[in-house]
Amino acid sequence: MNAYSEEDADARERDRSPVTRRSLIGGVVGAGLLEMLSVASPVQNEAMAADLSPGPAGASGHTGLGRAGPGERLEAGETVLFTADAPRVYTRDQWNARAPRRPAKVVGRRPDHIVVHHTATANSKNRSRAHAFALSRFIQDIHMDRNRWDDAGQQLTISRGGFVMEGRNRSLKAIRNGDLAIGAQVLHHNEHTIGIENEGTYMTKAVPRRLWSSLVEVCVWLCRSYDLEPSKAIVGHRDYNKTACPGDVLYARLPALRRAVAKRLDGASSSSDNATGDDGILPILPPLDDLT
Ligand SMILES: [Zn+2]
Repeated sequence: MNAYSEEDADARERDRSPVTRRSLIGGVVGAGLLEMLSVASPVQNEAMAADLSPGPAGASGHTGLGRAGPGERLEAGETVLFTADAPRVYTRDQWNARAPRRPAKVVGRRPDHIVVHHTATANSKNRSRAHAFALSRFIQDIHMDRNRWDDAGQQLTISRGGFVMEGRNRSLKAIRNGDLAIGAQVLHHNEHTIGIENEGTYMTKAVPRRLWSSLVEVCVWLCRSYDLEPSKAIVGHRDYNKTACPGDVLYARLPALRRAVAKRLDGASSSSDNATGDDGILPILPPLDDLT
């Protein structure tokens, strides 16, 4: 997540009320909803939710991106399932997104990089779909009301339970068409990247296995749709901006993510959590979290 982007700068210009570090701190602490990562400055920081109370489960229709498949029968709390060539992605209608201030700009070209973020919200133990939808609404509210952006900044969101959701409006259609719906997720690089927000704060904590599996599937899908080479295309937010995002632990897993995605693209049938390197030796990786 990024609390500072080109769109943010645009919004500040429109509002003529500069957002200072101080006002960000005041707004964040004063709101009582958020806390900050100690390792980054407020501007670099990510909004952290101390608590995300699950809201209503949202619309009940199941018309996601994938063709009809196992995902269509998903019920709240179940592990997300995937179709053959695209993950099950819940639409904005399904998580009850607000209307954007204006439609996202869609450009007729593919992104060249996939940017991995963490939301810097609490490491919730709630793995339900209702919680995932509440997370999407929470992020959209922060981005629109506090950051004054047009809409949620990221194109895709993955919950700790592994649910995948569309973020910025027009993102799914753009991906399907090989286009890019411009987001607000990485300062100075929104015009050529697509961003995935992963729920949680991964400075020290392990990445939940369900989230990891979905992240692999989403990256496989994006690399396929956009014809990207995972070893080059998958990057962390900190590769572009001065930020702790996506956390030391998730960042340290990016090489494994690239390998897992490459392996899937090469035809392996399922994702591998701790894929071995070329030498067959299991690389030293932060472990995945099975329990929480
Ligand atoms: Zn980020």
